[in-house]
Amino acid sequence: MKAVVIHAAKDLRIEEREAESLGPGQVEVAVGAGGICGSDLHYYNHGGFGTVRVREPMILGHEVAGTVRALGEGVVGLAIGDRVAVSPSRPCNACEYCLKGQQNHCLNMRFYGSAMPMPHIQGAFSQHLVAEQWQCHKIAKGVSIEEAAMAEPFAVALHAVARSGALTGKRVLVSGCGPIGALAIIAARAHGAREIVATDVMDAVLDKALAIGADRAINVASHPEALSAYAANKGYFDVQFEASGNERAVRFGLEALKPRATLVQLGLGGDVSIPQNMIVSKEIEMKGTFRFHEEFGLAVDLINQRRVDLKPLLTATFPLEDVVEAFKVAGDRSKSMKIHLAF
Ligand code: ZN
Repeated sequence: MKAVVIHAAKDLRIEEREAESLGPGQVEVAVGAGGICGSDLHYYNHGGFGTVRVREPMILGHEVAGTVRALGEGVVGLAIGDRVAVSPSRPCNACEYCLKGQQNHCLNMRFYGSAMPMPHIQGAFSQHLVAEQWQCHKIAKGVSIEEAAMAEPFAVALHAVARSGALTGKRVLVSGCGPIGALAIIAARAHGAREIVATDVMDAVLDKALAIGADRAINVASHPEALSAYAANKGYFDVQFEASGNERAVRFGLEALKPRATLVQLGLGGDVSIPQNMIVSKEIEMKGTFRFHEEFGLAVDLINQRRVDLKPLLTATFPLEDVVEAFKVAGDRSKSMKIHLAF
């Protein structure tokens, strides 16, 4: 089978790999679509992010959906031909964090396409994937394979909402409207947010934010003054989803958040400087959010039931042989929201 393998920054190859053998409780999935994520782009453009570096060849990818083509012994509830979204979250279910229900903090996590541990965890951008049956969530008739592959990044946004606390009636600020910020808008809307204001530095991205349900979109590069009104009277927003990783977005958020508001940090910006005094005096709660676990099933349910529409975020699907071009287009925020590879 063919797989998309990263060797180093800008060194992405299509290689032949042996498909894994199928064990009890496992299913073999013919991968239909794989979404290119920001972390895949970091591996491609920079050979990693932060202290995480590619140290050996690794199959990329963790946003995939496909069709079941073989069943291992004892698999129930799935049949050959079923279309499934495959969760890349593979915790051990035995460590202290798994036993507390915090599988996203598993000490032995084998999340697809991750260079964090050594040996690296191979990813899902391959023509065939052997997965545990509990990773596979059936997708409904009429849901496209690309929409199903969006369950993974949508689960990230749903976990961020779980971290924020109840959103019913809340005023929400979303800073950074790439795929994750956009999905946070959709997730916040689905959870009853009263008003959602989106910020970014690109008009094309902000137009998309409006199209998927933001009430107002502000370009903070061309209209920074549009934000200052929200800072009056100690702030306006109850919750901020910070998906840019940009220091200025955090600083502005702290000014525009009300006392006792919550700032949920999704974006990875590295080391930034933060006005501590504002966190103290406004009693702001800052929370990180990392991956997801049980939210994957919820993401698939919401997509299957058409409770959310992720289709506006689908930009294009590239054939596998054009993988390098696909990564280039995916890295251009002015042109693309979510790019998929067809396997
Ligand atoms: Zn564990």
